[in-house]
Amino acid sequence: MRGEAKLGIISREWPRGTGMAIMETDVLVIGGGATGAGLGWDLALRGVRVVVAEMGDLSTGTSGRYHGLLHSGGRYAVKDPESAKECIDENMILRRIAPHALEDTGGLFILCPGDGDEYAEAWLKACAAVGIPTRAVSVAEARKREPAINPKIRAAYEVPDGSCDSWDLAHALQQASEQAGGKFLTYHRVDSFHMEGNRIVGARMTNLRNGETVDISCALVVNATGPWAAQVAALAGVKIGMRLSRGAMLAFNVRWVNTVINRLRSPGDGDIFVPVGTVSVTGTTSVPTDDPGDTRVERWEVERILSETEVMTPGISRARVLRAWAGVRPLYDPHVEAQGREAARTFSVLDHAAEGVEGFISVVGGKLTTFRLMAEKAADVACAKLGVSAPCTTATTALPAPEPNARPHFHQLRGRLDRVEHGKMPGPLICECELVTAPQIAEALQTGDVVTLNDLRRDLRLGMGPCQGGFCAYRAAALRYELVNDTVEHTQELLAEFVERRFGGVKPLLWGHNLRQALLAEHIYGRMLGVTAADPVQRPPAFEPETIETPDAGQRRQTGPKVVVVGAGLAGLTAALVAADLGARVELVAAGQGALPVHPGWIEVGDVEALAGDERHPYARAASSLARGLNALHRVIGLSAPESGGAFHALTGSGRPRQVAFAAGSVLRSLRSDDKVLVVGIDRWRDFYAPFVAGTLRNAGYDANAIDIRLHERTGVFDEWPVDVANLLDRPEGLDMLTRQVKPRLDGATVVAFPAVLGFRATTRARIADALGVPILEIPTLPPSVPGLRLFGALKVALMERGVQQTFGAQVVGLACEQGRVTGVNIQTANGRTRTIRCEAVILATGGLYGGGLETNYRQQIVEPVANLPVSQTPEGDWFPHPLLSGQAQPVHFAGIATDAQLRPIDENGKPVLDRLYIAGRLLSGYSPVVEGCTEGVDLATGAHAAQEALKAIGETARVS
Ligand SMILES: Cc1cc2nc3c(=O)[nH]c(=O)nc-3n(C[C@H](O)[C@H](O)[C@H](O)COP(=O)(O)OP(=O)(O)OC[C@H]3O[C@@H](n4cnc5c(N)ncnc54)[C@H](O)[C@@H]3O)c2cc1C
Repeated sequence: MRGEAKLGIISREWPRGTGMAIMETDVLVIGGGATGAGLGWDLALRGVRVVVAEMGDLSTGTSGRYHGLLHSGGRYAVKDPESAKECIDENMILRRIAPHALEDTGGLFILCPGDGDEYAEAWLKACAAVGIPTRAVSVAEARKREPAINPKIRAAYEVPDGSCDSWDLAHALQQASEQAGGKFLTYHRVDSFHMEGNRIVGARMTNLRNGETVDISCALVVNATGPWAAQVAALAGVKIGMRLSRGAMLAFNVRWVNTVINRLRSPGDGDIFVPVGTVSVTGTTSVPTDDPGDTRVERWEVERILSETEVMTPGISRARVLRAWAGVRPLYDPHVEAQGREAARTFSVLDHAAEGVEGFISVVGGKLTTFRLMAEKAADVACAKLGVSAPCTTATTALPAPEPNARPHFHQLRGRLDRVEHGKMPGPLICECELVTAPQIAEALQTGDVVTLNDLRRDLRLGMGPCQGGFCAYRAAALRYELVNDTVEHTQELLAEFVERRFGGVKPLLWGHNLRQALLAEHIYGRMLGVTAADPVQRPPAFEPETIETPDAGQRRQTGPKVVVVGAGLAGLTAALVAADLGARVELVAAGQGALPVHPGWIEVGDVEALAGDERHPYARAASSLARGLNALHRVIGLSAPESGGAFHALTGSGRPRQVAFAAGSVLRSLRSDDKVLVVGIDRWRDFYAPFVAGTLRNAGYDANAIDIRLHERTGVFDEWPVDVANLLDRPEGLDMLTRQVKPRLDGATVVAFPAVLGFRATTRARIADALGVPILEIPTLPPSVPGLRLFGALKVALMERGVQQTFGAQVVGLACEQGRVTGVNIQTANGRTRTIRCEAVILATGGLYGGGLETNYRQQIVEPVANLPVSQTPEGDWFPHPLLSGQAQPVHFAGIATDAQLRPIDENGKPVLDRLYIAGRLLSGYSPVVEGCTEGVDLATGAHAAQEALKAIGETARVS
């Protein structure tokens, strides 16, 4: 077959022998989207030598940025019957040849309130005319099948829609093409063509991985570059009339629907809802653009899509949207001045010989659903030119399944779980949302075409779940560092790129859970992992540990004034502690554990004096109480300051140091320049990477080595948490296992660094240091943080000793007030009962946007849910204009409750809105804790200050200095 190809005569006009790679083929296909990959397969099956060059990874253009719908054609039946016919024909073919890349979800067209009956009639006729099978379904049946759809729909029709995973499809196409002799070059960008007279005889590419120039000679070039088609054609001096149209889509975190839901009306914005894998995708919009790389999503698009999807599935705008993205439709319609949805969805194969350029074909327009047909028609033209008579066989040849045992229509996540638990490649779970294990990453790095973390994402769906890489990005980057022996700088670069790109897709959706997730990522990457470069200065106040006599708990329970503290984060716990020490009867009410499970084990206070100089900063009112807060904490858990004074340079999880003021709940040490550091990791544990930490330290000039120890036989363990390791090390056998393995490998180390999981008991850390005979330090790991839980546990015990009543799992749903004064809190307990706790003062320490003390919605409103207190400093424009890891304060950080000097909430005129109500901690406005390095400082200062002010107001001033 190969002999049939009549290759054009190729001149050698371009430079040779200069270290560039030179290749030869029959056909060069430019573009590795569905169409280009389909061409690579089709031509290879016909025996033509073919090279597919793609400037990114496979399907990084429109094919990876689409809606995921395998069209039945129903959407186009009325306006564009030709395209509808192509869709239904190809739909049926793809079901046969690529079942593993598809899910047969079926589709429903629903007639929603407000949509006209006449379209429905025209639609039914049009579907029948092009052969799209439709079946009328009763409203009751449709609702039974899809309970989320609008109960007021008037009609529903079933069609053979489905969903399609374009990455699975592209990989199958590449595999099938390569099996037939085709070749795929990813990260190869075509920059120019080699011409002989009016004939294209080759192209020059840049290998974007290493910058190398690659020259390829060929008989024919096929331009399958989707929305880039006009740009690529221009390289050969040819004009193509593309009409690009950008469309946005939103992915919800779960499958709200299991059937493709289409609105039965003329196609418009936000009228298709597609279940794709583990999520459901709604869209789209249609915005004319000139730029094929224009993947912006604007706020109005998000609002439009949500409000339109509401019509099909009421209430959906309150669900969690995971991500927004956009793609550019490669529409082609040279004759009609049509834009966006008006332009036809059919495709065209253009032989540019008509414009005087030989050996050059473009294939433009179409849908992902019709990629095979587009490839077939373009390959027919190419073969005719090459003199190849072999017919197309792709309509009857099955594509290879990704794995021999992969089952068609098998729900992906369930399939993965099955494999992780019982079958192939068990191991530590690196991405919990998408169930990606460490061995899967190792395999992809060894065998796949994987360069960046984003490539891993496309291959394995890493980082595509609800946390959007918040946890797994660090794990995958550090694992990759070890496995491919990369540099620390490049690893940090890839990590930052991945996190920012994931964040980019969440940015238009920063309200509710997504905002909380972004703030958590900021905290994890900025503080615990030290990936953000900013390292705020620490200037703690001089504080002398004091001993105080606290009133007898029994006596206080009977006589003290009652104060209710709401919230069990550091601010609430400190307020409760200080109020109890000052003689109050305290009841602590909390829905959860506050933010201590993400506390790194150290105390940051920031540059207290400088920050207090800003009148909006909480320190401007409460800095004077910081020493009291620090003392309260010291009495409970013991704060240690660096021996040399100044600030600690605590090691973060990336090995970078961060300035902190005190150790609390963790063993900290600043390294000396002559220290020899041994970093100890735990074999096959996913939350700490000793080689990466040691590499970062070596980069910074330290003598540092890494070892891994084995704590027990962990065959099959894939989701071990920091608390599991800490509990093991609290037991004699765990402690013994650790010291036995580390001691012989000290090799002159002057300090041993461990992940911060060295037990919950202080004696465990002391015993380890004793047994090793060298100082130790702890490095924070991913949450849940063991040092944070140590702190939480110690504070709870201290409150218990002081007779503080602690009610956990209860939600405060309102305040009881009389004559402008708070007299109690209304709570709803975990079992749904409501009651009022009467008291003389309330301290609200419910946290901010992360903790749930402030709530947000997609209309960019911020509300305080307990008492509807006025929220100040809500940003007008973009809430998060800076990159996530930029280390810059984002406007939304400053939103919160403004107070007077006593920490009572005030209105816009500066007047207290309620008496005997005090605010503490992150609920306050006017500061940016991670960036200013004052997270714990503000909690301690305002917790202590609020307690003092509450007791002063009640008249219990004896102990309040
Ligand atoms: C918002 C939206 C929703 C959609 N929804 C659906 C849907 O649900 N169902 C459906 O069937 N279709 C849908 N489509 C249409 C479908 O996605 C596209 O028609 C299809 O993916 C186009 O595939 P392609 O291979 O032609 O182009 P692309 O996938 O864009 O591939 C072109 C490739 O060329 C590469 N390239 C460009 N220039 C160069 C160069 N100089 N050198 C090397 N490589 C280069 C690019 O990197 C790119 O990967 C949607 C499109 C959009 C925008």
